[in-house]
Amino acid sequence: RGDRRKLVVGNWKMNGTRAANDRLLQAILSGWRPLQHVDAAICPPFVYLPQLAETLASSPLIVGAQSLNPRANGAFTGEISGEMLSDCGCHYVIVGHNERRRMQSESDLYVAEQFLAAQESGLTPILCVGESEQAREAGNALDAIGQQLRVVIEAAGLEAFSRAVVAYEPIWAVGTGKTATPEQAQEVHTFIRGQFGAQGNGLVILYGGSVKADNALSLFAEPDIDGALLGGASLNAEEFIAICQSA
Ligand code: PEP
Repeated sequence: RGDRRKLVVGNWKMNGTRAANDRLLQAILSGWRPLQHVDAAICPPFVYLPQLAETLASSPLIVGAQSLNPRANGAFTGEISGEMLSDCGCHYVIVGHNERRRMQSESDLYVAEQFLAAQESGLTPILCVGESEQAREAGNALDAIGQQLRVVIEAAGLEAFSRAVVAYEPIWAVGTGKTATPEQAQEVHTFIRGQFGAQGNGLVILYGGSVKADNALSLFAEPDIDGALLGGASLNAEEFIAICQSA
């Protein structure tokens, strides 16, 4: 697996209050034990980014955002730019999460624009790709994922992935309690790495989809699974810490 660092990212989605965030962060920080080869990040809702940036400033935890608008600034009511995220202390930003692809109708091309804008703002994009249940059942999982990747690779170039993370999130496994088996995930991770040629060796590829403390170890044992993108499990301090420790 070369010298790739592990990475665990918590996506809080649309959850939290200032008070609940404080409790969760204090619980995570008080239970935290230093990790040598693992980075850990939390992506709260936009409005809580300053709170997390401040609370986590002198901690090992990194702050990320859940999305961005690809434009620099202007008449885009309700939107948030990459520069704003950088300004608020973000390091990572998730792009192409399947909830946004579906509910906000974000296309592959739009995701590619977000990816580029993130990098232009000094952020590291976490590009989510993953197949539907239908595609998997029809034997088209790799085709679907290949297409999602190709659009971003064509827009950004292979070299851009030296400053990016990819997350494989099968849609049927996100928030459903159904996890891909380690073998299923490993097959897709090998495929994803293969799309990047020699450059693929350094690419950090996360698995996401109902990862919990009790299935994380077997996933992380696979040679091409470099960590996890967590939804539900990131809202529980003990689960989050345990998964980071397993990575
Ligand atoms: C996610 O939303 O990225 C995710 C993986 O969610 P969950 O862990 O809840 O399946």
